[in-house]
Amino acid sequence: MSAEYRVDLDAFARNLRRVRAAVAPAEPMFVVKDDAYAHGLEVLVRRAREEGVRWFGAFDVVTGAAVRSIAGPDARIFVWLIGGAEDLATGIAADLDLGVGDHALLDDLAALPPAGVARVHLKIDTGLHRNGIRPEDWDAALARMSALVAEGRVQFEGIWSHISEASDADDDDARALFLAARDAARAAGLEPRFSHLAASAAGFARGEFREDLVRVGTFSYGIRPAGGPGEAELGIEPVAGLVATVTAVESAGVQVDVGSAHGLPSALAGLFEVATPAGPRRVEAIGFTSLTVAPWDDAKVGEPLAIFGRGALSSATDLAELIDTIGEEIALRVSPLLPRVYTPVEA
Ligand SMILES: *Cc1c(COP(=O)(O)O)cnc(C)c1O
Repeated sequence: MSAEYRVDLDAFARNLRRVRAAVAPAEPMFVVKDDAYAHGLEVLVRRAREEGVRWFGAFDVVTGAAVRSIAGPDARIFVWLIGGAEDLATGIAADLDLGVGDHALLDDLAALPPAGVARVHLKIDTGLHRNGIRPEDWDAALARMSALVAEGRVQFEGIWSHISEASDADDDDARALFLAARDAARAAGLEPRFSHLAASAAGFARGEFREDLVRVGTFSYGIRPAGGPGEAELGIEPVAGLVATVTAVESAGVQVDVGSAHGLPSALAGLFEVATPAGPRRVEAIGFTSLTVAPWDDAKVGEPLAIFGRGALSSATDLAELIDTIGEEIALRVSPLLPRVYTPVEA
């Protein structure tokens, strides 16, 4: 073994149970963008289904269609990056729930050849300006939705938005816009079955943001928010850990082969420690394929060391905080080329 990314599926299942309890009575939507935050889409979706997860947040239609084939016909799969008519057709064919946040996409939807009913969640822009219908355009979007519903082309499923979770005050303002948009939809005869605006942080911390669905990525993987509450307080645990092997013992330092795909930012050199049989040792240098760790007596070639994440001294977020970023940033840099090793081994 040189290096591998070990994923503990039982820990993942415990996080899912914790998430479900924390956001109740809302239902969690398990967010699996970026190859399930680099944990591996297929295996995690399969285990999530076994654990009773019904809703998945897949980001784009290609991922959504992949989740459909893994999760089976009963799962609900929400996607919100939809490029145009072709993506809409793919999404409808795969029976996805479509997050629609701009007028051009409503045009595309209206112009599609009839191909089944599109389940649409209309997105109101509540301040992030990532996409989403602007409040001043909302009534026009509702009118267009009503027409599409009347033509039998669209089923109006939900209203959604995304909030910054950067400050409670900003989130409160966003929520006020969200509630006004929902009131307007109801007044226009469009009753959403599902309202959703919170991700992990607000879903855990703020009951009034839970609504019907909470879209939970990071906390499902046991990645805590930078500068926020710890894992123990949240009741979650890291699911994945990078483990690498000692390849050379030199007086200047111990070389640890992490492969060319480790993704650790070189800015972390000198800033964190890894556990060795002789106690914690600092990572002195981060090279293209190896780390140099401060030496210890009796270091042995072939010895495995936990570098970060599950079983290591530092979580992804611990490392992220050292260089002013967020845990996802560290986790997502682990390249798909690094082998994933799952425990327990799937049946
Ligand atoms: C990534 C994402 C989420 C999940 O956010 P976490 O903070 O990882 O829980 C939810 N909603 C949208 C729209 C996202 O892009």
